[in-house]
Amino acid sequence: MIIPKKVKIFGFEFDVSFKEDLDKVSGIDGKIDFDTQTIIIEPDRPQRVLEAIFIHEVLHGCLSYAGFDTLSDNESFVEAVGNALHQALTTSEGDLING
Ligand SMILES: [Zn+2]
Repeated sequence: MIIPKKVKIFGFEFDVSFKEDLDKVSGIDGKIDFDTQTIIIEPDRPQRVLEAIFIHEVLHGCLSYAGFDTLSDNESFVEAVGNALHQALTTSEGDLING
């Protein structure tokens, strides 16, 4: 899958960017910042891991904007559902947008 430069979550447009050494500075592979409406991803990962990180951060955003903050704060829940969603999206036949 292609990781977009921008993604809309509940109508809010988030910029998606990569930041070297995010993991070394913050100890994390990705993060979503609701104040600046950005998703930042550590780039030094295999493509499939980058995709899974992107889906994971989008899922945090979806859950938070939908009012499920407790679920969004549950990292193991977001990790499990995000990975399942990533697998479903990347093993589907055809292009999800263009058919
Ligand atoms: Zn997370």
